[in-house]
This record gives sequence, structure tokens and C-alpha cells, in this order.
Amino acid sequence: MRAVVVNQAVEGDVEVVERDIRELEAGEALVEVEYCGVCHTDLHVAAGDYGEKPGRVLGHEGIGKVSKVADDVKSLKVGDRVSIAWLFESCGSCEYCNTGRETLCRTVLNAGYTADGGMATHCIVTADYAVKVPDGLDPAQASSITCAGVTTYKGVKVSNVRPGQWIAVYGAGGLGNLGVQYAKKVFGAHVIAIDINDDKLEFAKESGADLVINPQKEDAAKVIQEKVGGAHAAIVTAVSAAAFNSAVDAVRAGGRVVAIGLPPESMDLSIPRLVLDGIEVVGSLVGTRQDLAEAFQFGAEGLVVPKVQLRNLDEAPAIFQEMREGKITGRMVIDMKCACGHEH
Ligand SMILES: [Zn+2]
Ligand SMILES: [Zn+2]
Repeated sequence: MRAVVVNQAVEGDVEVVERDIRELEAGEALVEVEYCGVCHTDLHVAAGDYGEKPGRVLGHEGIGKVSKVADDVKSLKVGDRVSIAWLFESCGSCEYCNTGRETLCRTVLNAGYTADGGMATHCIVTADYAVKVPDGLDPAQASSITCAGVTTYKGVKVSNVRPGQWIAVYGAGGLGNLGVQYAKKVFGAHVIAIDINDDKLEFAKESGADLVINPQKEDAAKVIQEKVGGAHAAIVTAVSAAAFNSAVDAVRAGGRVVAIGLPPESMDLSIPRLVLDGIEVVGSLVGTRQDLAEAFQFGAEGLVVPKVQLRNLDEAPAIFQEMREGKITGRMVIDMKCACGHEH
């Protein structure tokens, strides 16, 4: 197989290498990968920001077809289209796994980080953790839902926003745009998109945002309080502490702020604001297998349409370079079939 791996220096560059495919062990399935999206998390893994992983096959936005299963596997069969997501495997028996919070499992494995991921022509997955992709969902679009889609879908779910209420979505990039779509089309909320990039705001409007705000031009929290009396909820996908602080100021009393983006700093949280206005601030990490199945289904029903740009496997080092330089706005998805050199 051919795979995109973290290079030996672990300074952010990746290389495309040839690897053997090992034999399957119990509980595993072999997936012929069709598409794999490139996420900012992949850049962090390649740069060693979460620990050095030289030679690790990257990718947690993989979609492909099962070509082989171990004898004991019951959850998948050959020909099934499945995901290779960040939640590669969890223990299945701890307090988190037993209470619908498997992403918090303390012994979780993550694709493209602590397990070889989907940015390759082939990937061996833990069968029970590969979520089936429903018919009618374009596999390239499914790759985007595997990370960005499920993360924002879950974030909106955790926000408890109800139909007709206002939700502020901070950051309108790859994640935020899908957040706008899920909030509007699936949850029936009124949506405010906040981003410093006017092009992304324009796209948010096309995707259903009722109100867009560029915080470099006006105070987002102030505008939201004035125009709608404060949002009932906010999700923050922006990787900026300023966005988190603004979100706390933008919600109305009893509002809930859901943290999704991962800037390394701390946020300000006024204790009187927290207590007297009864606001809530919670974190949300990707989504469970069930969340992903739901997020896929809404994509299959055409309610949510990720915007993706297809690239070839050989372009992987260039894509990482472009992303590091901030030259990319859409979601880059590698088409594994194009240049893998094999017949499919
Ligand atoms: Zn991701
Ligand atoms: Zn567990």
C-alpha cells in the first residue's frame, strides 16, 4: 500500500511511502480507502505537537470499502463502506464507554495519531469502531463529516439549542460552516456566524446563517446582545482565545457555550457572569460512533453538504505545506484511487 506518514524529523513535513499490508488479527477489517480528508489535527501530529510519532500513517477522515474481515468479525462484511475516524478504538468497558461517552475513554486509540490512520490506500481498522456510511452519501463528502461534521454536529447537540432559538457559531471555516448547516437545517435554530474572513462569512450566509459578524469590524458579543437579546447557545470552533471570551459575552442568561476549537491558551471567565447569569461552559470532543452515524444520515438526506476539494495522494506533502501557510480555505480531500498505481 501507499501511505502518507509523519517523516523522521517530525517537524511538520510528511512523505508518501510504500508499506506492506500485515495480516489481520481478531476483530479487524481491511479497508481499501477511497478518500481521506486533511485536517489541522494532522498538521499538529506531523509537527510532533502531541508527542513525536515518526512513521505514523496520518489521517482520521478516511472513507473506504471493506475488502477483508477477520473470521470473528460480525459487525462488517466485505463491500461495506465505512469510516476511519479519530475514535479508532476505545476500551469498551470503562465508565465512559458504558455511559455513551466513549470519546472520553482513558485508553482510547486515535486514527492517524496513536494508530495508523486512513491517509493511505489501505487501512486496518478495529471493525466494531468503523461506522457504516449510508447509501446516498457521497464518499468524498462523507470524509469531511467523519471529523469536521461529527464534531460540529455533536457540538450543536451538546449546546441544547432548540428550534427557533439563536446559536452563535464562532469560526466559519471547515468546521464552522458545517456547524452552521447542522444548526440551521437539522436543529432548526437561527444561526449567527462569526469569522474574521469575509469570504467565509459569505459562504456561511449561503449555507443558511441568518446573521454574520466580522469581529474585526464590530464587537460580535455587543451586536448579538443588541440584535437578538443574546444567543441561547454558542459553539466555538475558532482556534482563538478571543473567540471563547466573546462567546461568553454573547450568550443570554442561562446560555451555554460549547468549546470545540483547541487554542493552547486559557480563556477569561468572570465568576459573577458565571454565577449571576447562570451561564454554562462545556467542552465537546469529536463524537461517538452513534453521533457519527447520525451525522452521516443527515448528509445522506441532503440536509448538510460539505464542500470538498479533491487532490491526489502524491500531492500530500504540498497540501500540508499549503495548510501550514494558511493558503487553504476549503476542505482538502485526498482521492486515494487516483494515483495509487493499483487497479480497483
Ligand atoms: Zn480532524
Ligand atoms: Zn473505555
